[in-house]
Amino acid sequence: MGFFDDEIAALKKQGLFRSLRVVDASVLNFCSNDYLGLSNDPRLKDAAKAAVDRYGTGSGAARLISGNNPLCDELEKALADLKGTEAALSFNSGYHANIGAIPTLAGEGDVIFSDELNHASLIDGCRLSKAKTVVYRHHDLNQLEDLLRHRPQTPSLLRRGLGGGLIITEAVFSMEGDVCPLNDLLALANKYDARVYLDEAHAVGVFGKDGEGLAPKNPPDNLICMGTLGKAFGSYGAFIAGSRSLKDYLINKARSFIFTTSLPPAAVGASLAAVGIVRGEPERRKQLWKNVEMVRDFVGACGHTPLHGGSSPIFSLPIGDARKTMEISQRLFDQGIFVQGIRPPTVPEGTSRLRLTVSATHTPEQVAELKSRLAGEGLI
Ligand SMILES: *Cc1c(COP(=O)(O)O)cnc(C)c1O
Repeated sequence: MGFFDDEIAALKKQGLFRSLRVVDASVLNFCSNDYLGLSNDPRLKDAAKAAVDRYGTGSGAARLISGNNPLCDELEKALADLKGTEAALSFNSGYHANIGAIPTLAGEGDVIFSDELNHASLIDGCRLSKAKTVVYRHHDLNQLEDLLRHRPQTPSLLRRGLGGGLIITEAVFSMEGDVCPLNDLLALANKYDARVYLDEAHAVGVFGKDGEGLAPKNPPDNLICMGTLGKAFGSYGAFIAGSRSLKDYLINKARSFIFTTSLPPAAVGASLAAVGIVRGEPERRKQLWKNVEMVRDFVGACGHTPLHGGSSPIFSLPIGDARKTMEISQRLFDQGIFVQGIRPPTVPEGTSRLRLTVSATHTPEQVAELKSRLAGEGLI
């Protein structure tokens, strides 16, 4: 056996081998991040088609070359307006945004404070930055304060206008579903002259009166918000919202923005339509939260207490063992319900879980079906 086969065999032995599952529309999906059901909205489809008719299937080049059609500017204006910021800059994906922006905000000699459960794209952004990354316990602001108090001197962060470092956290943690204590975090950042980088991948479209996310509209200067367009917005792409000068800085410095072909017009067109719907149809958010409550009622009462049920549309049912988790997920799938099992390295060793997400489009009957299948597995 060659190297690849050896590695694959080792993964299989640990119950960690992953393969792609084809998902067609007939399965009842409880693991999509399409929280508002926009990915199948006819208005997004029409906007995507119109963008293709007008601008073609591919953008043809990076934004700084010739890949900047008028839809890009329009989308960024709409996003800045949604966030209440001076400006927004779109990226090709959340992954691109995080690995591009973080290394421009902190570099060699700087300090980053990173929540231990941060998403892989945030971790990779930290690695690429070459800054010293200090990991703090999940949501543990006492420990974070301790670390901030004893932070090393950071000459280049001082040059960047920050004495205290860069704190990085998810707004809604993608694999637990719990929400970061943003106000306390910002107070701490203020006290120690630090900046906060907030990944709102699962918060935009879901939180806020207009779907602006967890951060307040007009976020303070020391808060940089990143959001994605492939989850609640039903399209593809991501953005960073902030000041006009932050935008200009990122255009000039963020390598994952500069050195890649820009988003295809269809995605930009669909995103633009999505922003309008996210703002204009708050009833979708209302329905989403109603469904969250319905699921919380039975998942919250289960013997396997979910890690943090009900503060977001993401529920995490702890199983522990990786192999067992995948077996349960497969049995549910065979019965027509898709609830993905999550294993290391996505989550820490021994914390494998079923990750369940709720959408505004789930009907009471579908939620009842989920309930009975979970009960059938002895999970609730
Ligand atoms: C999904 C996700 C990303 C990546 O966004 P994509 O647009 O899918 O690349 C980044 N951060 C978090 C927390 C996510 O959940």
